[in-house]
Formats: sequence, structure tokens, C-alpha cells
Amino acid sequence: MIKLHDKYFKPFLSEAQILAAVKSVAQKVAADYKDETPVFVGVLNGSFMFVADFLKEYQHPCEVSFIKLSSYQGLTSTGIVETLLDPPDNLEGKSVIILEDIIDSGRTLKELIHLFNNTNVKEYKIASLFYKSEVYNGEYAIDYIGIDIPDKFIVGYGLDYDELGRNLREVYQLNEKHMINLVL
Ligand code: 5GP
Repeated sequence: MIKLHDKYFKPFLSEAQILAAVKSVAQKVAADYKDETPVFVGVLNGSFMFVADFLKEYQHPCEVSFIKLSSYQGLTSTGIVETLLDPPDNLEGKSVIILEDIIDSGRTLKELIHLFNNTNVKEYKIASLFYKSEVYNGEYAIDYIGIDIPDKFIVGYGLDYDELGRNLREVYQLNEKHMINLVL
């Protein structure tokens, strides 16, 4: 168990489990794109570890870029997705694969779709390492998924709780039992 700010988190996914999921996403993308030169666009901040490990597995010609969106504060999504760093402007005619850390409600994905619909890319696909199928609104197809996880708040491997926990190599899950004990 670890403590970040006021909350306790329990081990959920080991480094080996995460890297196996990253490898499987990279292999699926490679099967579709190894004969092209796609542009991988990581969604900051949460995707930085995923992007790094994904690229170590994706050893074919490609370009790499980042955009920055924000929506979560603490444990809950604010519902307002802000674009803090726009897509690069040299994407004309290119195949883009957006690398997301996690898809939860789908609000961030909607903003991403909106952003990329306004570019002149050849096509764009969505890859997400983590995916909460129980809460995803299902509005858009997600092309590549690493691990389907329960609707519980997680930290580690790039994901934070109020900016803490991004550097953890494993993924931890909010320990709700501990929260209930604290309330009782
Ligand atoms: P959505 O817009 O799909 O509800 O949420 C997507 C964004 O919210 C992600 O890019 C991530 O920043 C954040 N997020 C969603 N679920 C979690 C979670 O369980 N833990 C953390 N740390 N961030 C999350």
C-alpha cells in the first residue's frame, strides 16, 4: 500500500503486466502501419511513459509528437477539457495514431476527435493503454486497447493523483476500503 497526499493506493498492475500490454498494442499497430511512416501523437501529461515504452517496441519508421490536454483535478474529471498544446501543423496527408494513457468517460476523446477532424491528416486512429469499458460512453470506436480495467481511480506509470505518482513503475488502485474505514 502507498499513500499519496491524503489517499491510500494498493498494487493493481505489475510492471511486467503493463509492458506486456504496451507490447501487444505496439505489435497490433505495427501490423497495420509498418509499411508507412505514421506520426505517433502522445497526449500529455499522462501518456509519457506509455509513449516511451511503446516506441521501444515499435522499431519501424515513424515520427513522434505530443499534444497536451487537461481535464482531471484530484480524483474526478472536471468535465471541461482544455487544449494546452495544439497538434503539430505539419500533419498534412499523414497517418496519425494518437497515444492516450487512459479512456474513462470519453470526454477527452471527444475533444481529441474534434481537434483532429480540423486537421488535414490522411487518417487518424486512437490507441489507449488503459480503458474503463464500464464507464466509457461508447461514442467513438477505439482502434487499439491495452487493458480494460474496472471503474476505479488508478495512479502510476504516468498517471497522477494531484501530480503525485507519475513516476511509479507499476499501477496502483485507489483503496476504497481504507476510505470507508476513515469515514466510519
Ligand atoms: P475521460 O475524459 O475519458 O473521462 O478521461 C480521460 C483523462 O482523464 C485521461 O487522459 C486522464 O488524464 C484522466 N483519467 C481518467 N481516469 C483516470 C484514472 O483512473 N486515474 C488518473 N490518474 N487519471 C485518470
